[in-house]
Amino acid sequence: MTGSAGPSDPDAAAGRSAALAAALAAVDERLRAACAAAGRRRDEVTLIAVSKTRPAADIAALAALGVRDFGENRDQEAAGKARELAGLDLAWHFVGQLQTNKCRSVAAYAGVVHSVDRLRLVGVLGSEAVRAGRKIDVLVQVSLDGDTRRGGVPAPAVAELAAAVAVAPALRLRGVMAIAPLAVEPARAFGQLDRVAADLRGLHPGATWISAGMSADLEAAVAAGATHVRLGTALFGVRPPFDR
Ligand SMILES: *Cc1c(COP(=O)(O)O)cnc(C)c1O
Repeated sequence: MTGSAGPSDPDAAAGRSAALAAALAAVDERLRAACAAAGRRRDEVTLIAVSKTRPAADIAALAALGVRDFGENRDQEAAGKARELAGLDLAWHFVGQLQTNKCRSVAAYAGVVHSVDRLRLVGVLGSEAVRAGRKIDVLVQVSLDGDTRRGGVPAPAVAELAAAVAVAPALRLRGVMAIAPLAVEPARAFGQLDRVAADLRGLHPGATWISAGMSADLEAAVAAGATHVRLGTALFGVRPPFDR
């Protein structure tokens, strides 16, 4: 450590940018290989950089490298970053469990909410989107093992929730999202999600998005048809060891 190192140290900032560029290149290579292995085009999969706990400077550095989509899971943190980086024209994805009392704030900056998992949330997010004069893309979060503590609804409840999203004037039903349960092999979990997504498309042909895959399991997700992968650690490094 030197006394001069700090957020405004230009050498440190350049080093951080170079590290992020290398991580982005490695991630892009993984995505390319996963798409090729699955017989899919690379442009069928959108990379979302999950920037939770990371400083705005990291986001700006990735934005300068061409990344547009960023994911956050806490409203207060996300709102601050969205405000600070408003000039960059980024797309903010809310990927965390969402309380109804945060919907007004989230509706002001999020273009996509991945974690819609109850009717009351559809109602409140829908009216806050109307109030904000914005359209919000919505994914229904599916709990693949039925343990809803990490968010999500069990597969049989997806259709009812999706129907409510589909009739909300300021919400656009886009598809489904899931986090692979720790106890289930990712390929199996994402295969299950792919079937839930296919059933949903039977009812709502426009609901084509599948948000699945994190740093450890993106290959399995792409093989199972993911259209959006949510990567934190693979881009930014290991997060400080608290709950997320
Ligand atoms: C943190 C988080 C991610 C990213 O996880 P990594 O393992 O760091 O890639 C993806 N999705 C959600 C919902 C998250 O909370």
